[in-house]
Amino acid sequence: MPPDQAPDSPTADPAIVVVAVPTPLRRCFDYLPGNEQPAGGWCCGVRVRVTLGRRQVVGIVVDFRAHSDVERHRLKPIEALLDQTPLPADWLWLCRFTARYYQHSLGDTLANAMPVLLRQGRPLEARTRTRWFATEQGLATTAEQLGRARRQAELLGVLSQHRHGLVASAITAQGFDQAQLRGLHDKGLIDSTREWLAAPERRSGPVLAEPSLTLNHEQSAALAAMHEGLDRFHPVLLHGVTGSGKTEVYLQLIEAVLDRGRQALILVPEIALTPQTLERFRRRFSVAVVALHSGLNDNERLDAWEAARAGRARIIIGTRSAIFTPLAAPGVIIIDEEHDSSFKQHEGLRYHARDLAVVRAQHHAIPIVMGSATPALETLRHAHQGVYRHLRLTQRAGHARPADMRLVDLRGRPLRGGLGPQAMKAIGEQLDAGRQVLIFINRRGFAPSLSCHECGWIGECRHCDARLTLHRQPHQLICHHCDTRLPVPDACPSCGSADLRPQGAGTERTEETLSEAFPDTPVLRVDRDTTRRRDALEQTLTRVRRGEPCLLVGTQMLAKGHHFPHVTLVVVVNADGGLYSADFRAMEHSAALLTQVAGRAGRASHPGQVLIQTHHPDDPGLRLLIEQGFDALAEQLLEERRMARLPPWRHMVLIRAEGQDASMLHSVLEEGGNALRVWLGEQGLAVDCLGPVPAPMERRQTRWHVQLMLSAERRSALHRATAWLDEWLAAHPGSRRLRYSVDVDPQEM
Ligand code: ADP
Ligand code: ZN
Ligand code: ZN
Repeated sequence: MPPDQAPDSPTADPAIVVVAVPTPLRRCFDYLPGNEQPAGGWCCGVRVRVTLGRRQVVGIVVDFRAHSDVERHRLKPIEALLDQTPLPADWLWLCRFTARYYQHSLGDTLANAMPVLLRQGRPLEARTRTRWFATEQGLATTAEQLGRARRQAELLGVLSQHRHGLVASAITAQGFDQAQLRGLHDKGLIDSTREWLAAPERRSGPVLAEPSLTLNHEQSAALAAMHEGLDRFHPVLLHGVTGSGKTEVYLQLIEAVLDRGRQALILVPEIALTPQTLERFRRRFSVAVVALHSGLNDNERLDAWEAARAGRARIIIGTRSAIFTPLAAPGVIIIDEEHDSSFKQHEGLRYHARDLAVVRAQHHAIPIVMGSATPALETLRHAHQGVYRHLRLTQRAGHARPADMRLVDLRGRPLRGGLGPQAMKAIGEQLDAGRQVLIFINRRGFAPSLSCHECGWIGECRHCDARLTLHRQPHQLICHHCDTRLPVPDACPSCGSADLRPQGAGTERTEETLSEAFPDTPVLRVDRDTTRRRDALEQTLTRVRRGEPCLLVGTQMLAKGHHFPHVTLVVVVNADGGLYSADFRAMEHSAALLTQVAGRAGRASHPGQVLIQTHHPDDPGLRLLIEQGFDALAEQLLEERRMARLPPWRHMVLIRAEGQDASMLHSVLEEGGNALRVWLGEQGLAVDCLGPVPAPMERRQTRWHVQLMLSAERRSALHRATAWLDEWLAAHPGSRRLRYSVDVDPQEM
């Protein structure tokens, strides 16, 4: 267990310094203090360089002790002190909580939560520079008074002319040296400050750079409710249909927070995909806004982190990992599209940024707003229970009307590029009327598989339980799970027939079909393959926003937060993906995605239409979604989960194990599960342990994947059971031949 209540005030002369180092081991290590001592005294949060085994690693001081369980002569001293002042206390607190809650190594959590350069041991000062300026006394001093120190007099003259001083590099560029600087400094004629390189633009004047919109009745009521909770922990679900003006409510809430001199942290699913959102924040406010996204280099990342820590940045917008940004004066946290699965990290430290945000807001006693048109069932349940305040926006803002959704039966219909005759006809009509159409297809590439018409052979990945997707550009068979790439065979590898046929449709095939059917209309494709270049997506979107007739074909990249005011028809090529999945969340996610996609249509004055193609037009879930909307379906799913004793009614932990030897994996987990059940019985803990069962894709990248599932109504019991099993597994001799991980609140089964 990570040490919990460590002192935050300096400790004089500690006997033992406890350091969290980046290792998967769930323990910290004892060191002797060494010769150096931080300027402000020993504190938790100071980075140090230590020897671990034969490696030198960067760790963080997390505790002090009077005694160690290790014999003194075997303890190593700290090699080097990397910080004079500790990393921020609120940040350290959040990392400790995260490590404990997700049952992850504290050292690894800390390493995950800091910018790469700090993780590598770079001093914070590496990104600062020195600025020299003349003091009052210096300004009053004449060249004559400096006598024979001619160069010093010249330097003082130069500095006196620069009211804001000069940075050290500019001074040396003029031929002055350190000795002259030191000479003047010793006489008290000049002084220096350290400033951060590349600080965000500091703007002055009023907080608002452009006027806010006049809110409609529902928006005003929501904002008023949020204003009531500005100075305390106040969790809010802002549950508003797409286009209902949630972002405008965030903006006006942020305004109130900025007026109090505080900062706003905004988490979004994917910034690179939504530059307009960022642009909207920058346009509205005259304060410094920093964006943390995957396009930043290591220096820029550190600069942004430091600007937030020091309070120079007032608005911080970022994706999942931005939850670990330290804040000088936290005022509000906003999670946009809170249901989005990208907030959960699916490997290593498997945290959920939304859940951590709630805990963090509570710690700071500040409001948190979770916004969505399709809230996660977890969030909805909290709202129903009154744990979160439930605010609704039921109308689209401005003049847009809700789109009309319809199921289209595909059974027995001829398909071209995945599209049936009804969709083709509707597309043609919209194009004739000079409008735009969006075609949503959940599969990139040309076709989901390639098969032999003679013998039924299907191209499969050698390393995974998965079919190979046929791509046109490049012409290859590609595994979407391990990225294995193979040339497309000319003849069937099994029977030699040349009659190989692509099965089903991906974005490339739909694009091809549409180009053939509508040769006069540009077809724009948006998927991971067409948007590898950073600005490619933005260029496409700009074209769409200009409003000329076009066909937009894309994957879920298009479903998130974009406004397409000229799109009047949305076609969903296949809605069946979520209907018969092994994952109990599949229907929830599928319904959210359909609703989000549908929300792209008809934002401006033209009403929108949504055609949803399916082979299961009678599926009760789909029908409920179409006829009564996401909220009605969500209520039903919640009820089903309750009956089935699934989250959010119960809590879950998944132990995932992988290795080369499937039977060994099964037997270790079998043994572990049995031992755990015995222990649970002895302890009288109500925790269910299911498995071991094969993971949904049992073989991935040549390794086998097996899992154990723990669930309980009470988190504390589940937590204890997980910790016990984790220790058991770590101690098991077989554990060296397998890798396992603990996933608390798993989002994927
Ligand atoms: P959401 O975030 O709920 O999808 P947005 O905040 O992006 O919705 O608003 C959708 C559109 O409606 C935007 O173009 C926005 O400028 C406009 N809008 C929002 N609120 C208002 C309002 N009160 N009056 C007029 N237009 C508004
Ligand atoms: Zn064949
Ligand atoms: Zn593969």
